[in-house]
Amino acid sequence: MNKISKRNVPADNDWRRLGQENYLQGVKLVFKNYHPYRIGRDHDHCEFCGTKFFETDDNLQKGYTTVSGYHWICINCFMDFKDEYNWLVEDND
Ligand SMILES: [Zn+2]
Repeated sequence: MNKISKRNVPADNDWRRLGQENYLQGVKLVFKNYHPYRIGRDHDHCEFCGTKFFETDDNLQKGYTTVSGYHWICINCFMDFKDEYNWLVEDND
């Protein structure tokens, strides 16, 4: 069971912490509809909580992704970690 998430900085031992600061600290993110990183992939997981992103017609999902499109972060985790990771959000023309 997930704990009810609050909008504050997660604890140091938050279960979602898996060393993401090594590759996600201070990076640029873009908010957009989920799109697989490469052909043949149909889903990805949130880098923090593991929530699945799918690309389907009736289940459009938005999330924050790195400029490369390789890493995806769900809105909930973005809100929880955005201050700590100093993400720079780019507008998606
Ligand atoms: Zn998440």
